[in-house]
Amino acid sequence: SQSVVIIGAGHAGGAVAGTLRQYGHTGPITLIGAEPYLPYQRPPLSKAWLKGDASLDDLYLRGDSFYADQGMTVRTDTQAVTIDPAGKTVTLLNGEHISYDHLIIATGSKARPFAVPGADRVPHHLLRTLDDAEALKNALRPGHRIGLIGAGYVGLEVAASARYLDCEVTVFERESRILARVASQTLSDFFTDMHKGRGVGIITEASVTELSLGQGDRKVVHLADGRTHEFDLLLVGIGALANDDLAALAGLATANGIIVDEQARTSDAHIFAIGDVTSRTLPTYDGRFRLESVPNALEQAKQAAAAITGYKPPIVETPWFWSDQYEFKLQIAGLLRPDCRDLVRGDPASGAFSVYHLDGDGRLMTAECVSRPADFMAAKLLIAKGIALDDTIADPEVSLKPFLQK
Ligand code: FAD
Repeated sequence: SQSVVIIGAGHAGGAVAGTLRQYGHTGPITLIGAEPYLPYQRPPLSKAWLKGDASLDDLYLRGDSFYADQGMTVRTDTQAVTIDPAGKTVTLLNGEHISYDHLIIATGSKARPFAVPGADRVPHHLLRTLDDAEALKNALRPGHRIGLIGAGYVGLEVAASARYLDCEVTVFERESRILARVASQTLSDFFTDMHKGRGVGIITEASVTELSLGQGDRKVVHLADGRTHEFDLLLVGIGALANDDLAALAGLATANGIIVDEQARTSDAHIFAIGDVTSRTLPTYDGRFRLESVPNALEQAKQAAAAITGYKPPIVETPWFWSDQYEFKLQIAGLLRPDCRDLVRGDPASGAFSVYHLDGDGRLMTAECVSRPADFMAAKLLIAKGIALDDTIADPEVSLKPFLQK
């Protein structure tokens, strides 16, 4: 029977290995991972792991006996260095060749490096891997002054975790508001208030131009307006880049990620790509997207496993994402679009509300829900069905059920 080789033993790679067996694939499965760990979940790294609330076993997708029990080979002692699509082989770091009938590329993304003068000399943390998270955790001390560069989800989750550990935290954001690229103004304002209320300093329109070393190993952040700030520890969280070099080198079509179709197939019929590394289409949105989320990794894992085994394709999902900061559970369904009208359901001051984004016809396109899990569940369905809402739902007591039944 046919062999499947998976490059990248992260969330997507680990998931697809299990899904292949579940969908009836009986042939050999080889998982090649560059990190010295079995597939694990990254979301807790900026949350429970930093706070000391998660163990390694909590992070692993499956127990270590799972892979052997399922007859899979896990190679976390090496990495793939080249792919030969014509010969259908992968070459490992040690020169070993592995042949495949189907290849799945699940190489994920990497933290965008910080490229200002001084960044090469001034120690700073990035957060992508378990090793990164462990180094950060060991360095966070009560009373330490922490500078966070970049107010995206990872940076803000670390801010919340570091406050929990009694660190002094300052966040620098180049844009005029936090989460500028990924959240509405209402949501940015809410999280700005929550972080400030818990003692986090937030400096927006802060363009970091240089890092230098101060006295006693302090790290100095220089801003474009001439101000400087000193810290005991710096974390840079300015986004992620697709690990698509291997694919590009093999001649696969890439453009900010590996281009795949709705079966997760690349420009080579025998090669699939899944997870953060892909550039994909979505049913309700025009264009291509590189989604960095666990639900996306799991959905594409199912698409690839279905295409390889002939199993029925998964139902198309509304893209979604979550983030936990302090006691607030944010869940976002759909992607933000500039052409929508915002309807706020509930009062942000209460700490539980949703921002529903409606298009010109009143149809729900995106929902940002803070500690309103029922609103989120309903929104996923409303978006998928293209159902129109009206202003009555601004009252959080008004049920969404009648709309769902339309
Ligand atoms: P990864 O999990 O990154 O796995 C890719 C693996 O491939 C890595 O282990 C890498 O070392 C390996 N690899 C790369 N190149 C090679 C090679 N040549 N040979 C062998 N192996 C290779 N998502 C959410 O939905 N919600 C959250 O709250 C959330 N929080 C997050 C918090 C943090 C701190 C981070 C870093 C991410 C978070 N994410 C969250 C994003 C989520 O973790 C990713 O979307 C998910 O891990 C993507 O899975 P993946 O398998 O595509 O990539």
